[in-house]
Amino acid sequence: RNLVEAVDVVREYKLGQERVRALDGVSLTLPGGQFVSIVGPSGAGKSTLLHVMGALDTPTSGSIHVDGVDLGALDDNAASEFRRHRVGFIFQFFNLVPTMSAWENVALPRLLDSTSLRRAKPRAVELLERVGLGDRINHRPSELSGGQMQRVAIARSLIMDPAILLADEPTGNLDSTTGGSVLQLLADVAHGVGAHDEHTGRLVVMVTHDEHAAAVADTTITVRDGKIA
Ligand code: ADP
Ligand code: ADP
Repeated sequence: RNLVEAVDVVREYKLGQERVRALDGVSLTLPGGQFVSIVGPSGAGKSTLLHVMGALDTPTSGSIHVDGVDLGALDDNAASEFRRHRVGFIFQFFNLVPTMSAWENVALPRLLDSTSLRRAKPRAVELLERVGLGDRINHRPSELSGGQMQRVAIARSLIMDPAILLADEPTGNLDSTTGGSVLQLLADVAHGVGAHDEHTGRLVVMVTHDEHAAAVADTTITVRDGKIA
């Protein structure tokens, strides 16, 4: 099943009198079960493409369907709902809540869903075990290494069981060995390795400058001047 179907997506920004075409006619189809890496020079449009896939930004023209949803047809509330339930986000600087334990951070997205944190705990713990942190569930972010913090963030991105994970420079703040193991974890998530009850065939899309990414990703997409090269 195709999880992303983009047809001739254009995203223009107005900067005073200037128009910047961040995306200039991007068409692409991405099936589930893949780890996809997006590379290219700075300013090429990589982040814009990731944001459009995550309903954080909308195309000026063209169409994009993600997990069967026509993102162009969503109003603000529906877009927010889409972001919460259908996609997981992973960031360069982890974005963990410093005062919360690892399991509370993982369970946090469920709070917005009117589930109490405590009811979400078993699943949060299961996900932490899956990312290799079963013995760190009560640790605060400050008591974890960078790689461990990113694993917590990956577990958090899975708590709503989304079909798609969007990662923006997930290894950008990690040394190369730690980064390599985070890349391998993201590949395992895409391939359903170590999955239990959750569905397999997830799509993981990552924007990266990591030179090791190409070796781990199933597909590498190069973006240049707003176009797929
Ligand atoms: P990359 O992630 O590849 O570095 P971006 O997607 O961030 O590239 O940016 C692509 C182009 O769009 C750049 O020229 C950038 O300056 C421009 N751009 C991105 N976001 C905005 C914005 N919110 N307002 C105006 N211009 C933007
Ligand atoms: P709400 O609309 O209810 O305030 P959001 O839509 O802002 O909630 O947040 C939903 C999801 O989107 C969260 O997982 C959050 O991490 C992600 N998100 C929101 N804004 C951004 C952003 N600028 N960049 C990346 N992810 C974001």
